[in-house]
Amino acid sequence: MTSEEPQEEFSIHWIRDLVDRVLERNPEQYLIVTGKSMSGSVHIGFMKEVIIADVIKRELQALGKQAKTVFISDDYDPIRSFPPSLTLSPDEYMGVPYSDAPDPYGCCESLGTHWTNELVESFPEFGVDPEVVLQSQLYKTKKMLDAVRTCLANTETIRAILIEYVARDFDEKQKTEYIESMKTWYPASVICPVCGRIQSGGKGSIVPNRVTAYSPEDDEVSYECAHCGHSETAKFDKLRMKLSWRVDWPAKWYVMQTTCEPAGKDHAVKGGSYDTGLEMSRRVFGWSGPVKVPFEWVRLAGRDMGTSKGNVFTPRSWLNIAPPELFRYMVLRTDLEKANNIQTDLIPDLVDIYETFERTYYGLDDADSEKQDFARVLYPNTEVHPVSDEYIPKLSFKFATVTSQLKGILSEETILERCYNVLKKQHNLTEISPDTKALIPTRLSRALAWVKEFGSDQEKVEVPDNVPTEIIATLTEADKSFLASLVETLGVDSLEEDDIQAAIFNTARDVHVKPKRAFQVLYMILISRKSGPRLGPFLSMLGIDWVLERIKSVL
Ligand SMILES: [Zn+2]
Ligand SMILES: [Zn+2]
Repeated sequence: MTSEEPQEEFSIHWIRDLVDRVLERNPEQYLIVTGKSMSGSVHIGFMKEVIIADVIKRELQALGKQAKTVFISDDYDPIRSFPPSLTLSPDEYMGVPYSDAPDPYGCCESLGTHWTNELVESFPEFGVDPEVVLQSQLYKTKKMLDAVRTCLANTETIRAILIEYVARDFDEKQKTEYIESMKTWYPASVICPVCGRIQSGGKGSIVPNRVTAYSPEDDEVSYECAHCGHSETAKFDKLRMKLSWRVDWPAKWYVMQTTCEPAGKDHAVKGGSYDTGLEMSRRVFGWSGPVKVPFEWVRLAGRDMGTSKGNVFTPRSWLNIAPPELFRYMVLRTDLEKANNIQTDLIPDLVDIYETFERTYYGLDDADSEKQDFARVLYPNTEVHPVSDEYIPKLSFKFATVTSQLKGILSEETILERCYNVLKKQHNLTEISPDTKALIPTRLSRALAWVKEFGSDQEKVEVPDNVPTEIIATLTEADKSFLASLVETLGVDSLEEDDIQAAIFNTARDVHVKPKRAFQVLYMILISRKSGPRLGPFLSMLGIDWVLERIKSVL
């Protein structure tokens, strides 16, 4: 991390600038909206959007404004593909809205709500609390149905906007074809009452059940099902309809009266779906639409974050290995339009960086005034809970990765005792507060989960119950005399970590064993490897009595 750190440009200006832009709207209630299609388990990257919305809300509330966040789960979208692990038959459900497909896990009302719930249940731990709105439910409200009517009645205008925006970069031939295809195009599709589909075909060959005519006078809709061929003209009220996605977005903005919505750069690109939506907001719905907030995606190094692939790194996956505050910090500390590349193998270093930043906020470390200003604005926004008046010392994540792996060797009590000792030393404490103690078990379990999944061989320690006989067989007479001397040195009195480290050096020198070999021998009899964590702290963690017994067992 240290090599990467200086290249990062920290910026808090975006928060101030953004809130200023949002404030210009001056509505009675500020509504900051996020949304996600529910085509599978949602990856951690999406949390960036939710956290940006949360920060805008927090800043507005701090200014005394009425503000809230909303998360819209787009569960009314049609199924296009399934993650490979799913047991549902793709043939049976392709083209059916996610909200209409059963939950194969058996716990929720639909497949769409299953993935919604999976995401939403992690929200409190990330410090976000948006109101959750299901798109499928929104489409049952009178407001939304009226918006669908408005769009159908304004089909000509919407066609013109799409031709203007979508065909902008087409060549002449493509443009002519597109304009021709738009002559019969309507902005809504119908969920077929016979086969339950809103479109036919899978990726690459999708044909929606488009409305083919709409009469505002009779409020009647004609359509044809591309899958089963069913067609009819029916009263608007008798049908279930969904707007096509470029139109669905501005309709939701209008219905919700969204003040601001962040969007990933693929949608927020100039002339993209966000801009098309804003144009429709003005020309179809007669209002400005929300404040556009473009942001760059989050990448986890070495991880494919695609939702449709099987192995998704979800917000829950993050919570298993790292503090949520770290994620908030990583995505908020730079300009929103800068990509965040989070290297999961560096989580312990990143936690250290975050906790140094935390101490800067509390004025505990010597930091320049620029860093202090940065911490003053950013730190409260990285925290999941209201900021505590006093600094709560945290157990070092790096220490926790080693300690947590000693569960088989040390009792829980002993492990906690070791953690308290390290905390006292590191933070100069005479006593450990209940707040500090309360954080330790989670830190240990995250550190253990992290080291198991992402730790290097060096970071993984496994202490076998007994020293394997094949390792004892490799010890020379010189090794053994070193070990025998070490038993005497270490057995004298209670030694500090640095004293242990020094004692190993001195003993090795006294018996003419090279220090490198001496260290190797100790690692071999402790963890059956030639290297490992720093020995002084490691032996201290294991406890000198335990170490002496271990050494004696090979002599
Ligand atoms: Zn479920
Ligand atoms: Zn059908």
